[in-house]
Amino acid sequence: MSNDQRIFLSSPHMSGNEQKYIKEAFDLNWIAPLGNNVDGLEKQLAQYNSVNGAAVFTSGTAAIHLALKLLNVTKGDKVFCSSLTFVASANPILYEDATPILIDSEPDTWNMSPKALKRALVEAKNEGHLPKAVIVVNLYGQSAKMDELLEICETFNVPIIEDAAESLGSTYKGQKSGTFGKFGVFSFNGNKIITTSGGGALVSNDTDALEKARFLSTQARDKAIHYQHSQVGYNYRMSNIVAGVGRGQMEVLDERITQRRSVFDRYYQALNGIEGIAFQPELDNSFSNRWLTALTIDVEATGVSKEEIIKELGEHNIEARPAWKPMHLQPLFKGVKYYSHDENISISDYLFEYGLCLPSGSNMSGVDQEKVIYHILKTLEKGKSNVLLHT
Ligand SMILES: *Cc1c(COP(=O)(O)O)cnc(C)c1O
Repeated sequence: MSNDQRIFLSSPHMSGNEQKYIKEAFDLNWIAPLGNNVDGLEKQLAQYNSVNGAAVFTSGTAAIHLALKLLNVTKGDKVFCSSLTFVASANPILYEDATPILIDSEPDTWNMSPKALKRALVEAKNEGHLPKAVIVVNLYGQSAKMDELLEICETFNVPIIEDAAESLGSTYKGQKSGTFGKFGVFSFNGNKIITTSGGGALVSNDTDALEKARFLSTQARDKAIHYQHSQVGYNYRMSNIVAGVGRGQMEVLDERITQRRSVFDRYYQALNGIEGIAFQPELDNSFSNRWLTALTIDVEATGVSKEEIIKELGEHNIEARPAWKPMHLQPLFKGVKYYSHDENISISDYLFEYGLCLPSGSNMSGVDQEKVIYHILKTLEKGKSNVLLHT
């Protein structure tokens, strides 16, 4: 590999075994619609996460959409969602013409603030209009404070959809991330910790609901020999070829987590302790897959903005990105109600302003990571003189 090859934020990392399952599908001519690989991947996912069932679809977004359908979300219903996330968490709310309400993060996990959630639910109850669901996102691999969030939601009898697209394999109090809510969502998009090139899954202990999701994902065909339909369906089911990639990837998931965590550890060793730099915390009693190494860079303390780091890395063909832009700051969600962590403190605004994601691929070489660290340190060194000038 040449030295100036681009270093990506997170690129696909195949094991080689994927081809075996794809070949099997070809040999059996089980190209479509379903087959061994779809069944096999669903079993693997259920087993790995210790849940009753899993169902696989064309994307994580499709899985979230189906979860909303299963919870009977329709026009005018409220759905709460973490504000600091990728737009895919919230888009399906709009597909159903439901009303999104956005909830801030808290600083310990960067995920949904129990305090803000409680305020929002109390207010919704007083208005006589509770949400049909709360979508809780586990950012960059770190689980949200699920016990607290569940307790609050149970008080109000509102189900949780756990968007675990980024936290496959992570745990919270020894239990797999994505298995705390009524439904959990995973994604196998190209940049995730494992990938099928594109795909997603729902996991749940409610196997009847998963069967309903499979039904909805294959055009909602009634049980009749002619083509009969009584409700709106979707073409969301994962193909047997794609599922073959997933079976091979599941075999190396734990290895990928170890590799991503090593990447994190190396960044941590090199940069932690520098004034103004703070890594996304790993909550006590939780285990993050460290899908992406995320940190904040305080411009006042370091003399360097996250944009300067991104620019410097970009000039050396290294991809780094700001943290997700919160949904309440997006033009798409203009005017949408937002509950901040404290009445006057919005954590997600801070994380967006200072937050940065570093290249974190499980296939990134040590040499490449040294190069990333070198350019970050160099930029910080330049920043020091800015700090001195201002004091
Ligand atoms: C990737 C991602 C999704 C969507 O998954 P797709 O498979 O790309 O549709 C949803 N939520 C979050 C937080 C994600 O990072």
